[in-house]
Amino acid sequence: MREDLLRRQTAPFRWDRVSVLEYKQDGSAPFLNVTRQVLFDEVELGCQLRYFEVAPGGHTTLERHEHVHAVVVVRGAGRCLLGTTVREVGPQDLVTVPARTWHQFRAGGPEPLGFLCMVNRERDRPELPGAEDLCALTTVPAVAAFLDAAED
Ligand code: MN
Repeated sequence: MREDLLRRQTAPFRWDRVSVLEYKQDGSAPFLNVTRQVLFDEVELGCQLRYFEVAPGGHTTLERHEHVHAVVVVRGAGRCLLGTTVREVGPQDLVTVPARTWHQFRAGGPEPLGFLCMVNRERDRPELPGAEDLCALTTVPAVAAFLDAAED
């Protein structure tokens, strides 16, 4: 029997034998004040369940990719960009990020924005927006306002 079948919560949104990692390690993508914890990485399931936490004022990378995200917000509140739509999100909201869809999460309010995110273990690398992509995105006023607010 594996010894890690039960890993207890040690503090709010922290768990035994789960490392709190930098959101992205290669330094190639813009983001601000985000941590990543891999809660489950099961070969048989073919997916990972991660917990991300975005500190107040922080945001994830604006990106898109072929793989899909299934997101459950579990802490705090904020906004997310999905394609050309900006939505408010809060606890227990479920967010699907479809393939090839620009997305970014931004914390709002005094508490961190925490969310679970399920992905395929094998997945393509995220694509970052080029100048033309940003130009197209910012033709939508709500998206332009969202991206302005999320600037580092
Ligand atoms: Mn993504």
